[in-house]
Amino acid sequence: MTALEVTDLGYSYGAKRALDGVSFALRPGRFTALLGPNGAGKSTLFALLTRLFVTREGRISVAGHDIAKEPRAALSKIGVVFQQPTLDLDMTVAMNMRYFAALHGIGGREAARRTERALAQLDMAERAGEKIRSLNGGHRRRMEIARALIHDPEVLLLDEPTVGLDFKSRQAIVAHVHELAQTGLTVFWATHLVDEIGDGDDVVVLHRGEVLAHEPAADLRGGRS
Ligand code: ADP
Ligand code: ADP
Repeated sequence: MTALEVTDLGYSYGAKRALDGVSFALRPGRFTALLGPNGAGKSTLFALLTRLFVTREGRISVAGHDIAKEPRAALSKIGVVFQQPTLDLDMTVAMNMRYFAALHGIGGREAARRTERALAQLDMAERAGEKIRSLNGGHRRRMEIARALIHDPEVLLLDEPTVGLDFKSRQAIVAHVHELAQTGLTVFWATHLVDEIGDGDDVVVLHRGEVLAHEPAADLRGGRS
């Protein structure tokens, strides 16, 4: 069973066709980049994968659960980092984590255990007591990634998570998320920046709402044109 499978997905904004016949299956425990220029349909695809948008065209399956038929089961297997940060600046890192744990019905010692683990995975453990306001942009993003892991999802979706960050902060996030994939998490990372993709990663190339390619980055770079 694949962690995330999309079959013949389509979506239109009125007369504007944003996605058309999009199909792919992510290999479990891999870092897959969703690569495409602005306007390719990346945000629309993410909105469908997180059920912000719904469509009658095609099918999305998460860990074997059809998102239209079993939305709760499907969404419980997804962690999401949206393009725009959603953090209360006056909360501490730990409070943010505990709040998200509570939203998933996780409390007490279990919430503390998961918070500790997720923060450690992003190398943020020593910042648990700090207010978000006092963190730089890169650390805020890492906090959001840790938060997206609190319910132990199988798939992590990130929509251009390094936008606006300096080179060093970007690199740290790229490295941390690759480590997460090595622990078995299936990562789907939308970007228009080729330098965020490693040779060992898979790439789904989206262009004008259609999948042009789905293959290892090394093969794409091999330039079999
Ligand atoms: P991104 O490329 O990061 O998705 P965009 O600048 O394309 O950002 O879009 C920003 C917002 O504007 C999104 O909410 C998107 O849905 C909306 N948007 C994009 N293109 C159009 C359009 N042609 N008409 C109306 N809204 C649009
Ligand atoms: P990306 O995230 O890759 O930049 P989007 O999913 O935002 O792409 O947009 C895909 C296409 O749909 C683009 O042509 C965009 O202009 C169009 N689009 C996005 N949002 C809207 C909207 N609300 N109304 C009309 N067109 C839109």
